[in-house]
Amino acid sequence: MFKVEDIRKDFPILSRKVNGKPLVYFDNAATSQTPKQVIDAIVDYYSNYNANIHRGVHTLSQEATDLYEQARHKIQTHFNAKFSHEIIFTSGTTHSINLVANGFSSLLKKGDEIIVSALEHHSNIVPWQMLCERTGAILKVIPMNQQGELEIADYDKLLSKNTKLVFVNHVSNALGTINPIQYIIEKAHHVGAAVLIDGAQSCPHIKTDVQALDVDFYVTSAHKICGPTGVGMLYGKEEWLKKLPPYQGGGEMIAEVTFEKTTYADLPHKFEAGTPNICGGIAFGVAIDYMNAIGFETIATYENELLEYATNELLKIDGLKIYGTAKNKTSVISFNLAGIHPYDVGSILDKLGIAVRTGHHCAQPIMDYYKIPGTVRASFSFYNTKSEIDTLVNGVKKAKMMLS
Ligand SMILES: *Cc1c(COP(=O)(O)O)cnc(C)c1O
Repeated sequence: MFKVEDIRKDFPILSRKVNGKPLVYFDNAATSQTPKQVIDAIVDYYSNYNANIHRGVHTLSQEATDLYEQARHKIQTHFNAKFSHEIIFTSGTTHSINLVANGFSSLLKKGDEIIVSALEHHSNIVPWQMLCERTGAILKVIPMNQQGELEIADYDKLLSKNTKLVFVNHVSNALGTINPIQYIIEKAHHVGAAVLIDGAQSCPHIKTDVQALDVDFYVTSAHKICGPTGVGMLYGKEEWLKKLPPYQGGGEMIAEVTFEKTTYADLPHKFEAGTPNICGGIAFGVAIDYMNAIGFETIATYENELLEYATNELLKIDGLKIYGTAKNKTSVISFNLAGIHPYDVGSILDKLGIAVRTGHHCAQPIMDYYKIPGTVRASFSFYNTKSEIDTLVNGVKKAKMMLS
């Protein structure tokens, strides 16, 4: 049985105060909070295992290596990758995307086409623009509609034999829209294009099976899924990871080095130059264990309840408009009060101890589409409560009174 009050005890930060008020943390889409199981794993690592991995014959190094490789295996199992060497540790989603974009520099030629969606995070736009500049490839964009959904019929029309890559996020961080990635992947494969799915925003809510999706690349960050910052992963199908050249040169990624020629290490080490975030990788594995112990269906059911409750309560406020009303969405609400700048609303909420995000959420094209400078975004996690939503709704009412 899911008892939110018990879950909350796992998160030390949730009992702190902000500006004299109990913290209400609704900025989960930017980063999730960390349960003590993950914090303990970090303390345990530095207290008992800290050593460099893969290189040492000594006991500490072997223990650290074992823990790190076990974490890779946990991640492989969670996403149902075929091989553990298809899981590459990175510093996060942004790093993973850049790794793939860089690799494709040598595979694309002038006139090739890359398709992205209008719902992307900047980290999923800029690396492709840079790739296009390097190769002469052309960037095409799947448009969105008023509900914040992708216009999928337009996607079909963009696809051609020139399409080499398609990049879409699984869930939009600004609006919470869940994109029809299964369809997007199937259609791309019909024309022989590879697909990268940005899972940073879906990972905390949806358990993804990369083999069932038949996706070519899938990326995420640990800190969106109750893990630490500065670590993430790239899943790539073995055939693709073999085809891509290494991203960075350095230690760990080589097989043999002479001044004449260097040969690269096998997967996954080919893409893991230098000393990685060992502790972070281990803690990432613990975070995945933690989420699975609660269960992703339980999490989704509860978060949907929060979403529905918050949507209904917020819409009772006159002049409040919600952006992103897709039928399939995660527990994210982006909104504005008529005539009031989102930043001002966010500042007043902060005084009340409520953490929300304001601004363009690294997704300026979406804001341009709606012709707004930004939104207030409240994003809910399984450790949030209806009573916290009541606090938010009262806070928004107060902000409205003070600012209009
Ligand atoms: C957070 C996020 C990113 C960026 O993740 P980093 O950890 O900052 O690299 C990319 N895409 C989406 C959809 C996100 O939510």
